[in-house]
Amino acid sequence: MKKHVGPPAQLIELSRALGDPDLAILSEGNASCRGEDGTFWIKASGASLATLSDREVVRVRGEPITRLLDERSSDDGVAECLREAKVDDGRATRASIEATMHAALLELDGVSWVGHTHPAAINAITCSLRFGELLAGRVFPEEVVVLGPASLLIEYADPGVALGRAVRDGARAYVERYHQTPRAIYLKNHGFIAAGSGARDVLNITLMAVKSAKVRSAAAALGGLSFMSDADVRRMGARADVDYRKKLMVERELSK
Ligand SMILES: [Zn+2]
Repeated sequence: MKKHVGPPAQLIELSRALGDPDLAILSEGNASCRGEDGTFWIKASGASLATLSDREVVRVRGEPITRLLDERSSDDGVAECLREAKVDDGRATRASIEATMHAALLELDGVSWVGHTHPAAINAITCSLRFGELLAGRVFPEEVVVLGPASLLIEYADPGVALGRAVRDGARAYVERYHQTPRAIYLKNHGFIAAGSGARDVLNITLMAVKSAKVRSAAAALGGLSFMSDADVRRMGARADVDYRKKLMVERELSK
């Protein structure tokens, strides 16, 4: 008999941390991580991050979902694709429709964990008329360390195939330009995605992005953002201790 393999305990821990009411309420948001043999684990459709249990996480094969993004398909096939992509565990649960954007990011080298939330502080900006302007550049050094040299901004697209495709196109263009994967992704009129190498990494990115959003909104109200220069951002990104500081933050346990 095949041994039942459950989702990683850190995925449950991360999901519950992302279920903080400042980050996601009700069934908003989702978290995922890579599994074995081209699969990934993701929150089931309709489940709540704050109270997520092992039984509300499903394992899906990534390939059929990314193939859906390649095809000229619409959302009609997405529910069926998600059902077929599921590694059968005998339960009727299905992956969240936002699995499309998780699949698009988890296929990138260097991204093995993804957390998606709708933080009020971030959505105050993504739902504003100044989306691009207020999320441009870098305004303090920890943004460079934790969020990367620049953020990836995605115009509004319906959750499902359209959003998965927009995130994948944006991420590929980002990798081409910055030679690294995007860590902080902002979805216009929708929310935020953290893409990282571990559970702690994803939580750190999310918390830093919320802090950054509060700083940026306040600075905008105080007359405007004062950006770091490109040279300062590059120097900060290249500093030897940056990787070290990032590593320290990544490796600390999720539980404080
Ligand atoms: Zn969402």
